[in-house]
Amino acid sequence: MKPVIALVGRPNVGKSTLFNRLTKTRNALVADHAGLTRDRIYGNARHDEAEFILIDTGGLTVQGDDMSDLMRKQAELAIVEADLILFVVDGKTGVVPADELIAKQLRNVGKPVLLVINKTESEQKELAAADFYRLGLGEPEVISATQGRGISNLMNTLMRDL
Ligand code: GDP
Ligand code: MG
Repeated sequence: MKPVIALVGRPNVGKSTLFNRLTKTRNALVADHAGLTRDRIYGNARHDEAEFILIDTGGLTVQGDDMSDLMRKQAELAIVEADLILFVVDGKTGVVPADELIAKQLRNVGKPVLLVINKTESEQKELAAADFYRLGLGEPEVISATQGRGISNLMNTLMRDL
């Protein structure tokens, strides 16, 4: 069985953009509107010889959902289906309260969680990472899903943690 990787994070951090890059498709909807992707989307991805299944959980939000509902659903999905969770955060905004709530839930899932800081194309790696250590999820991966920065490092770490 291929390992299953879930992309988790608040809306608009770039989960679908990362999904599209890793699966080399344009299947996930990418938008400036938070929460546009309504349905859960699965895709195949590969790195070197390894293949895995990626889930974009952005679709778990529906109109009227408040943030805590969204996070609960995302975390539940990740717990049930995933072998590893990619927790995506936004390096441009830094840590926001929703990130802290998600981090708190993910620390208890009993599955490997990899913290991924996106939107870092114009930032020094160390500076981008500094704010996020307090989420208590260890060493973050620093990427730009649009530019492709840090993606191969991310994939190497992911394969190591599976
Ligand atoms: P999602 O809601 O988490 O799935 O986020 P999306 O993938 O839909 O992206 C939300 C917005 O962030 C879009 O306008 C993307 O183009 C933008 N975005 C995604 N990745 C990056 C990145 O690496 N850098 C920058 N600057 N913007 C990004
Ligand atoms: Mg999305």
